[in-house]
Amino acid sequence: MKLPSTVHRYCKYCHEHTEQEVILVKPGHRGTLTKGSRRKLWNIEHGYGSTPYPMFEHKKIKVKTTKRYDIRYRCKKCGKMTTQSRGKKAKKVEIK
Ligand SMILES: [Zn+2]
Repeated sequence: MKLPSTVHRYCKYCHEHTEQEVILVKPGHRGTLTKGSRRKLWNIEHGYGSTPYPMFEHKKIKVKTTKRYDIRYRCKKCGKMTTQSRGKKAKKVEIK
């Protein structure tokens, strides 16, 4: 998926549509210990649900082919950054 480098988008701080720069935040830049990663570590060590044993065997199977990318927009007028609520799912994202 290719994204344009600038978009015309609503800015919630300026209360109007402005030119905004598209920024792609790489995975791993959001902090390491999120709620999901803590739960994953617990499941790997203790098992989960009907599989009350460590999940090392299940880790080898790769099911998901897409990742959720964190795309952010920086307003050129006020300089503030806004996020998308859930990001976008794609195999690969690049900015033109
Ligand atoms: Zn703004």
